[in-house]
Amino acid sequence: MTEQNADRKTLIVCPICQAQKRFEIPGYVLKQESVDIIKIQIHNPSVCEHDFVTFVDHTGKVRGYELIDYQLQFTSRTGKKHSTVDKLFLEDLLETLGNFATLNVFHAFLFNYRVLIITGFAEISKYVDLLNDLFARVFPPDVPVNDLARVIDQKDFLRLNVAETEHLILDTNGLVTNSPWGDWKRFDFENEVVKEALEIIEAKSQAQLIQQQIGKLRKWAEYILADLEKNDIVYEKDMIRKLGAEFGIKATNYHLDLCKLFIARRISEKALLLGRIRNKSLDRLREGLWL
Ligand SMILES: [Zn+2]
Repeated sequence: MTEQNADRKTLIVCPICQAQKRFEIPGYVLKQESVDIIKIQIHNPSVCEHDFVTFVDHTGKVRGYELIDYQLQFTSRTGKKHSTVDKLFLEDLLETLGNFATLNVFHAFLFNYRVLIITGFAEISKYVDLLNDLFARVFPPDVPVNDLARVIDQKDFLRLNVAETEHLILDTNGLVTNSPWGDWKRFDFENEVVKEALEIIEAKSQAQLIQQQIGKLRKWAEYILADLEKNDIVYEKDMIRKLGAEFGIKATNYHLDLCKLFIARRISEKALLLGRIRNKSLDRLREGLWL
C-alpha cells in the first residue's frame, strides 16, 4: 500500500532545448485513477530557461507539452509585507501557484466553475480563505465570485470521480489535476488582464483595473444579448464585426466564444438566445447551396 502512495519521479524533457530533469509527482495524485491528465507548470530555471506546461497521465507518463507564452512579470512582495498585512496579493498567488494555475483559477471564478484546492500543508485553509478574499476584492460587484474555492483533503480527493466533476482541481503548488473545460484552453483574456494589472504596484488601483476589465467582458456579453433580442438570426462574422465596431476592439472568434461562455455560465437565463448566432458556411451547407 505504501509503495502505491510513493511519489514517482517522471522524466521531464523541455520541448525546445531538450534539457531533462526528473520531477516528483505526488503519489496520491497518481493513485487517483479518474484523473485524466495532470498539468504541471515547469518554471524557468527549474529545467532550463524555458517555461512550459507538462501533461502527465495518472501512470506518471508524459503525454505532451505546451509552451507558455504568458509574459507575466512581477516583483515578489517582501516577507515583511506578508507578515504585516494579512492579505494575499496577485503577486503572491503567481509566486505560489505559478502563472498557469493562477490563470486557471481566474478562468474558473470568471465563468462560475467550482475550485477545489487539495490540502498540502497545515495552513491550507487559511491560504484558501486568502485566495477567496483576493478574488472577491478584484471582481466587480456586478460580476461577483459566486462559488468560493474550497479545501479538499487527499482522502476526499481520492474518493472523487474527477472526470465527472465540473470542478477545477489543483494543489497549492499549482499542480492541476482537473480542468472542466478540457486540457487545451486559451487564457488570452485572463492573461491580458493579469498582465496589465501587474504593471500597477498599488494594490487598490490594481484591483480597480481588474474590475474594469472584467466589467468590459460583461458589457460585450450584454451588447451581444441585446443584439440577439432584436434579431432572429445573426451570423458569427457579423456579430464579431459589430462587437469590434461598438467597442473599438480587434474582435475575433475568440472574443465571441468568450462572450458566449460568459452568457452560458453567468446569464444562463438568456442562454437560449445564443442559438440565434449562426455560422454562415454551415447554413449554406444545410441549404445545399454549396454546390
Ligand atoms: Zn528549454
